[in-house]
Amino acid sequence: MSTKRIGVLALQGDVREHVAILETLDCSVSEVKTLAALQAIDGLVIPGGESTTIYKLSEIFGLYQPIKDVIAEGLPVFGTCAGLIMLSSEIVNSASGQKPFGGIDAVVERNAFGNQNDSFEIDLNVKGIDHPIHAAFIRAPIIASVGPAAEVIATLPDGRIVGVRQGNAMGISFHPEMVGEAAVHELFLRSIG
Ligand code: GLN
Repeated sequence: MSTKRIGVLALQGDVREHVAILETLDCSVSEVKTLAALQAIDGLVIPGGESTTIYKLSEIFGLYQPIKDVIAEGLPVFGTCAGLIMLSSEIVNSASGQKPFGGIDAVVERNAFGNQNDSFEIDLNVKGIDHPIHAAFIRAPIIASVGPAAEVIATLPDGRIVGVRQGNAMGISFHPEMVGEAAVHELFLRSIG
């Protein structure tokens, strides 16, 4: 396949960090804010940030339904933290009216780590990556349960689920992009035809 065109949804969040990581890998990177940009990519990254804001802006920019549709049609998609929340099938502690794009049969609980422990860094194993990766958790969600079609790809030492993939969609609770960790983005690129 020729160079893969990866778009980073650029409504809110750590767009720049994702772009910077992707620019070190074998792909061409663009920021997605319009329908035309969404239609010109081979894979979409949904960043971390604030999922309620990403949801609201996706409606305002006329992108909510188009993104939902391209994911349902099979566009490869990778979400970190707020991005994972937007890829879930059900959000616990959602802000009123917030809806996910869907893609992964999983119940995801926002802000699941409470105040004391709401940000931390840890090394984790991710299925498909042959070495532990460094991950930052920032007001992170937990994947409370997954459906039978979803595959767990990362857990915390206590067993809580923090990474999942299903078909064309992959989501993780943490931020490899904040700590310069490229391996999960590489795994995503490898999954694209
Ligand atoms: N708590 C945020 C949310 O609900 C996610 C935090 C993050 O992306 N770092 O969207």
